[in-house]
Amino acid sequence: MDSAAQIRDDGTLAEPSPFLFSVYLEDVRSLLPDGHGYAERVPPNVEAYLGFLERHGARATFFTVGDVARRYPALIRRIAEAGHELACHTSDHTPLERLDPDLFRQDIERNRADLERAGASEVTGFRAPIFSLTERTAWAYDVLRDLGFRYSSSVLPHANPLYGWHGFESTCARHPSGIWEIPLSISGLFGCKVPFAGGVYFRVLPGALTHLLFRRRRRAGVPVVGYVHPYDIDTEQERFMHPELGGSRILNAVMYHNRGRVLPRLDRLVAGGARICRYDTFVTALDARDG
Ligand SMILES: [Zn+2]
Repeated sequence: MDSAAQIRDDGTLAEPSPFLFSVYLEDVRSLLPDGHGYAERVPPNVEAYLGFLERHGARATFFTVGDVARRYPALIRRIAEAGHELACHTSDHTPLERLDPDLFRQDIERNRADLERAGASEVTGFRAPIFSLTERTAWAYDVLRDLGFRYSSSVLPHANPLYGWHGFESTCARHPSGIWEIPLSISGLFGCKVPFAGGVYFRVLPGALTHLLFRRRRRAGVPVVGYVHPYDIDTEQERFMHPELGGSRILNAVMYHNRGRVLPRLDRLVAGGARICRYDTFVTALDARDG
């Protein structure tokens, strides 16, 4: 069965509350000092995601750093040829607060050129590294508009000590620049607000709870916006301390937890009715809705 959420002639989606599944196409080794001494794991993990999507006839979005496109152009071509969307995730995974509008423009132009050189076409989407699009870096929307982008999916609509944009609506909204923002889906759990369909949260939360949260959003007619990394399914990756964890051994243990369960869980979600959709297809439906 083709589970891809299809777009109707009038521009609306056959499934109005799709699962906006996405892969952060990045190499965790690039974020470590001497990380490339570890085994190369991105290609087999991406193949596993492509297999999952193919099983369900689904098309999704890969937010890709330029570094990966430069290293693995054949992999980018394969993703594009399988009908998936390639979108930007900066050239070298630099958080926006370390850039300014000029540097960001140069970075994204390079990121897009690397994707296009490898075979991607119509690159119109962006996701900031580590939810770094906040009220302080909202200048990024004007740059994206100037470069012809249509949407961003970069905002965690809740502030925590590391990242997030407090007070941002949790629904899709059009920035005054004209760029759509598709914020990550969050849910209040145990006194915290967490992106339940994303990476480590998706792995650690009980599967039954995730199913319930997905069903709730479908009933409410809103999409689930989630993400995974190549390492989220990698049961063969060597042990090393992951970046951005402050050297915590406990958090690092969590980084390896339940990796073998991610693909079976995704299969069950799709079997339970979740309909995966490319972000740019969803944005076309948002445009049609707005007229
Ligand atoms: Zn990333």
